[in-house]
Amino acid sequence: MSDLPPSNSDLQAAAWRNVRADFPVLHQQVNGKPLVYLDNGATSQKPRAVIDALVRYYERDNSNVHRGLHTLSMRATDAYEGARTRLARFINAADPAEILFTRGTTESINLVARSWGHAHLKPGDVVLTTEFEHHSNLVPWQQAAKAAGATLKYVPLLGADGEGGLDLAALDTLLTPQVKLFAFTHISNTLGTINPVAELCRRARAVGAVTVIDAAQSIGHVPLDVQQIGCDFLAFSGHKMCGPTGIGVLYGRRALLDKLAPDETGGGMVVQVTYEGATWKPAPERFEAGTPNVADAIALGAACDYLDALGREQIAAHDDRLVRVAMEKLSALPGIRIIGPRAGAERSGLVSFAFEGVHAHDVVTFADEDGIALRGGHHCNQPLMRKLGLTSTTRASFYLYNTEAEIDRLVASLARIQKFFAG
Ligand code: PMP
Repeated sequence: MSDLPPSNSDLQAAAWRNVRADFPVLHQQVNGKPLVYLDNGATSQKPRAVIDALVRYYERDNSNVHRGLHTLSMRATDAYEGARTRLARFINAADPAEILFTRGTTESINLVARSWGHAHLKPGDVVLTTEFEHHSNLVPWQQAAKAAGATLKYVPLLGADGEGGLDLAALDTLLTPQVKLFAFTHISNTLGTINPVAELCRRARAVGAVTVIDAAQSIGHVPLDVQQIGCDFLAFSGHKMCGPTGIGVLYGRRALLDKLAPDETGGGMVVQVTYEGATWKPAPERFEAGTPNVADAIALGAACDYLDALGREQIAAHDDRLVRVAMEKLSALPGIRIIGPRAGAERSGLVSFAFEGVHAHDVVTFADEDGIALRGGHHCNQPLMRKLGLTSTTRASFYLYNTEAEIDRLVASLARIQKFFAG
C-alpha cells in the first residue's frame, strides 16, 4: 500500500510527495536511530514554510501593530489582520472579527469561562461537560461554576475502556433548561474518540445552552467548519496544527462577542479613557489587550496555507489509515490493552494503550532509546484515568508526515520492551 493518500489534484499530490522534506526536525538521529516522532497529540512539528514566515517577519516587517503610521507598522498590521482573515477562512467563520488571537486552547477556554461565566452564570444554573475532557476544558468550568454557585455536571462515557463514546441517551436527560453552557471536546486527546459535534450543538441549542468546543486535537487534522457545526465558541492551539507555540484562537459568534465584557483590559482595546473609566472597542480588539503575538499569528496563517495545500480531507484519511494499521499491529502484541473506540469506529489518528506489567513512563523511556517519541502519563485526564481504573497510558499520535514504516519501528520497539520485562 502506498504511503501517500489519494489526492484530488496534481498540485496536492506533489505537496504530499515532498511532505517529510518540509520538516527539518524530522531529519535527525535520536540515540543513534532515525527519529520517529509519534507525539503529535502533544505538539506537531513545523514545516519550513512556517519557520520561514517567522524569520521573514522578524527580518523585514517587525513593528508594533495598529498604533503606528509608519511603513513597517502598517505592513505588520496588514499581515496580522491578514492572518486573522486567513484563520476565519480556515474554519469558515462568517466574519474575521469572530477570530480572537490567544495563547492557545487553555487561554481561549479560560476567557469564555471567566468573561461569559461571570456575566451569565448564577446559583441554580448548570454547566455541562463530559467525563473525558482535558484538564483545560474541565478546571476552568469547575472554577466558573464555583464562583457563580452553579453546578457542574458530566455526560457519562460508555464502555469499560471508554470505547462506547458519549452516552447520548443520558445527554437527553441531562440537557435541561437549567443548562446554560455545554463544553465538550471535538476529539479526545486520550481516547481518540471523535464526538458528533454538530449533533451535540443541535441538542444544546434546543434548550438554549451556549456551546464551547475544545478543538485542540481536531484542528489541522480534520475539515472544520464552525457554521456547519453550529457552535457558539471554539478553541484551538496553533502548535498542534504545524504552527508556532504561544498562539491560538478563540472563535466566538459575533452576536455573543458583542455582548461580552473583556477579561483583560489595557492598551489597544479601549476607545476612550478618562480618569474615571474607559469604553471598549468592539471584537476582536476588545479581547486583545496589549501588544499581540504578531509574529506567531502571521506564521499560524502560513500553517493554514500549508495544511490546505495538502488538503484536510487527505490529512484525515492519512491519519485514519495509520491508526488502523497501528491498532491492528498493536492488538497482535500480548499484554497490550488499547483504550477508546475500537478499530473502524469514530477514532482519530491516535492510539492509547496500557502495557501489562510495564509503567507507561518505562515504555516511553525504552522507546526513546530506539529513537521513538511517545507520550506516557495521565494526559491531563486524571478523572478519566480514575474512571477507567488506570494510572497512566502510553499514547502514539500520528500526523501527516508519519509513515507505516514508522509504525513497524514502534511495534518492534514494543516487542523489545515486552521481552525485556518478561525475562
Ligand atoms: N484540550 C485538549 C483536548 C488538548 O489535547 C490540549 C493539549 N494537550 C489542550 C486542551 C490544551 O492545549 P494548550 O496546552 O495548547 O493550551
